This record gives sequence, C-alpha cells and structure tokens, in this order.
Amino acid sequence: MKEYIEKTYRKGKDEFYSEIEEKLKDEKKTFVITANPEILTYGKKDKQFDKILLDKETIIVPDGIGVIKGAKMFGIDIPERITGVELTQQLMKLCDKYKKSMYLFGATAEVMGKMKTLIEQKYSGIQLLGTQNGYVEDKQAVMEDIKAKCPDVVLVALGVPRQEKLIYDNLNGFNKGIFVGIGGSFDVISGTKKRAPKLFIKLNLEWLYRIAFSPARWKRFYEGNIKYIFKLKKEVKNNK
Ligand code: UDP
Repeated sequence: MKEYIEKTYRKGKDEFYSEIEEKLKDEKKTFVITANPEILTYGKKDKQFDKILLDKETIIVPDGIGVIKGAKMFGIDIPERITGVELTQQLMKLCDKYKKSMYLFGATAEVMGKMKTLIEQKYSGIQLLGTQNGYVEDKQAVMEDIKAKCPDVVLVALGVPRQEKLIYDNLNGFNKGIFVGIGGSFDVISGTKKRAPKLFIKLNLEWLYRIAFSPARWKRFYEGNIKYIFKLKKEVKNNK
C-alpha cells in the first residue's frame, strides 16, 4: 500500500487544478486516478490494477479521506482531498473556458441526458463530441468511437476497476486527452444522486453517509476499508 501512497499527489487542490489546466492547454496526455482506500486495496488483489496504479504515467489523487489518513501513518502529509466530483466540475469549467472538447461515457441514459442538458445550458463553450451511457454491451466499441473523435477530455463513469482498466488498455491509441475514471460523479453532478449533507462533508464523514444508505456497499466497505486499515498497520509495523 505504501508504494501507492508515496505516489499520490501531495500538493493541494488549487495546485493540482492549475497543473491540469496547463496539461489541457498543452494537450498533454494524462490519466488521473481518484483514489480511495477501496481502490488501493484492490491494487493489492489484482496484478493488472497494481500495474496501473504504479505506472509512472498515471497520477493518483487523494479522493478519500482514508488515503490522507493512511499517508499520515507513513509520515506523509497530504493537505486535502481532490474528489472525482470536483475534478469533473473543474474539467467542465476549463473546457468551457478554453472551448475544449469532451466525451462523456458511463452512468445511466437518464443521467447522461441530464449531463447533456447541463452542458448545453451552463457550459456552452464545451464542444461535446459524444456521450454514451454505461450500460451498452460493447464498451470497447465506445472506446474506438472516442479514439476516432480525439477529445481533449474523456470522463469514464463505469465504477472501479472497470473504468480505469478500460482507459489504461486504450491509452496507447490516443495522442492527447485528459482521462479520468469518475465513478458516480455524473450521478451527483446531474442532481440524480445527492452528495452527503455539508456537515458530513465538513466532518470528513461523507463515506459514512454513502455507506449507511446503501446496503450494497457494506461488503465493499469491509473489503476496502477495514482490511485497508489492517494492511496499513501491518506495513507500518514491518517498516519500523
Ligand atoms: N455504471 C455504468 N455501467 C455499469 C455499472 C455502473 O455506467 O455497468 C455506472 C453507474 O451508473 C454509476 C457509476 O458507474 O454512475 C459508478 O457507480 P458507483 O457509484 O458504484 O461507483 P464508485 O464511484 O463507487 O466506484
């Protein structure tokens, strides 16, 4: 776990957003992984995902508070979270400002419809090259369509680890583009799924709110978080 955490972006949100802005302007191909404990634990279980996380070309940002807390256990200071939802909104703003192009892939057809309307109404500077909901059978065919269109930003919302694997496997086919696997961010931004109340966010308990209202996540919580803490403690002990 330590190797993932050591690789995780350590500066703040503003610095990250300005770096992303530069990459967008320079058309520098970039792959961002928004990490939470569940993702890091998954890296330890799955060789391909481990490779993706450790690849020099991928940037890991601290989406979950558990990543920040875990870093502290190794004496690494990470100032704040950089979430998938906020990064998505930031990329939308930047594409609007610089008249850059986007392709959105994932979530339900209903959510995607709302995203389209939102962009047309509020971010008219964005050149929307394509949208596709995430329930189509042939996901690779969608990636081929994206390749043919060469967007400046590609957001993939299919859930972990599928979205990251799909991006990684296709990255060589692109000369430019900022790629991010954004999980449930379209659900939140389209207003379909509410983010936790502000107080939960402020107290760093957004994860608790999400889990409490979604029994399907209880097992994932155990796998990704309880096991995560045990793994971290063991690594810290072995490092001493
Ligand atoms: N999703 C999808 N196709 C699928 C399964 C999921 O497009 O076959 C979408 C789902 O609609 C949601 C997103 O993937 O918008 C991520 O879901 P979740 O909140 O479970 O992801 P997490 O961020 O927790 O990984």
